[in-house]
Amino acid sequence: MIYRKNKLTIDHLDISKIARKYKTPVYCYSLRKIKENIQNIKTHFKNINPLICYAVKANPNLGILREIKKNNLGADVVSVGELMKALKAGISPKKIVFSGVGKTFEEIEYAINKNILLINAESKSEILQIEKIAKKKKKIVDVGIRLNPNTDAKTLSQISTGKKENKFGVNQKIFLQLVNIVKKSQSLNLKCLSVHIGSQILSYKPYQKMLNVVNKIIKLSNYNFEYIDLGGGMGIDYNHDQSKLDFYKYSKEIKKFLKNNHCKIIFEPGRSIVGNSAILITKVIYIKEGFKKDFVILDAAMNDLMRPALYGAKHMIIPLSKINRKSKKSYEFVGPICESTDTFSIVKNYQKLNEKDFLAICDVGAYGVSLASNYNIRPKPPEILIKNSKIQVLNKRQKISDLI
Ligand SMILES: *Cc1c(COP(=O)(O)O)cnc(C)c1O
Repeated sequence: MIYRKNKLTIDHLDISKIARKYKTPVYCYSLRKIKENIQNIKTHFKNINPLICYAVKANPNLGILREIKKNNLGADVVSVGELMKALKAGISPKKIVFSGVGKTFEEIEYAINKNILLINAESKSEILQIEKIAKKKKKIVDVGIRLNPNTDAKTLSQISTGKKENKFGVNQKIFLQLVNIVKKSQSLNLKCLSVHIGSQILSYKPYQKMLNVVNKIIKLSNYNFEYIDLGGGMGIDYNHDQSKLDFYKYSKEIKKFLKNNHCKIIFEPGRSIVGNSAILITKVIYIKEGFKKDFVILDAAMNDLMRPALYGAKHMIIPLSKINRKSKKSYEFVGPICESTDTFSIVKNYQKLNEKDFLAICDVGAYGVSLASNYNIRPKPPEILIKNSKIQVLNKRQKISDLI
């Protein structure tokens, strides 16, 4: 995504043309960027040779999943719907792991029928449930146990998952108990220890702490895990100031860990694969004068992109046409929805905007459309993919008539 002659482009395509043709708001993905992100992870972790299971919840678009499959990734799913979609995209069940604290009987049964790589259990009740279903089906099921390592990921509190007060995983004491239960089971095969401490993690240090805890607990459990699933969480550069996770430092920590532990590493990255691959193109409906700043009222809203309202997350907003005028304004970018949290950001010294101008909300590929809703009876925006400088429509705009 770069400006050419002050026009924002992806793969040499003028984005304002896309905005005019498909109307706004519209999600626009760059396949080049997705491939680049996958390659980047593969290159930096080459010596570790992890199994990379893309976290489908970050973006479950079937077209995107198919592209991810072409790059030989597996999938991390958290519901039967995601599992079905991953399979439909052609991802091998032998590369699919199933996470989540509340897998239902039906979901576990479906996963067992499909012979997926691992069901990562998060409680004693779940382990017993999986065992019951496995026994009924006369199958031996490969499972992992998710540890809550009580490690602060130093990220937004709403997307932190590895502290003892979080609902995810089990504590050390229960983990060791579960290892013994599974070891004795005739229907379960313990293959994996899994962790996932949170999302948008920008420093390797929380991962370093997490690895120390995992190392300790492996010793205590005195068990040879075939897989260690380190989850996802790798942070990306939302502020465009180079503050993303340093893969090199993280990989060094993992290599240290692997010296003591001979096992296959699994990654479950979501955001770091699709996050920076998309923009949400939007149009200014009105500009209205406020107290200290003007409100720029966009045709995109919290129902299209919920992260700012849900987590207070910040996304850069840039104009499709750059104008180098002297006059600058302070703006608050807001959506039209009747909620005060329907606001994207406040920016000082922005180029002066006009009604009907097009803007791009950046880095919305992860947890963008996957969190979208029909609040205020607003149809979900279309999704288009730019692939070799050509446009592929992945999803059309929902019809209002279907919502009424
Ligand atoms: C959400 C989630 C991920 C993906 O997290 P990212 O921050 O998008 O990489 C991976 N594993 C589990 C268990 C998750 O819940």
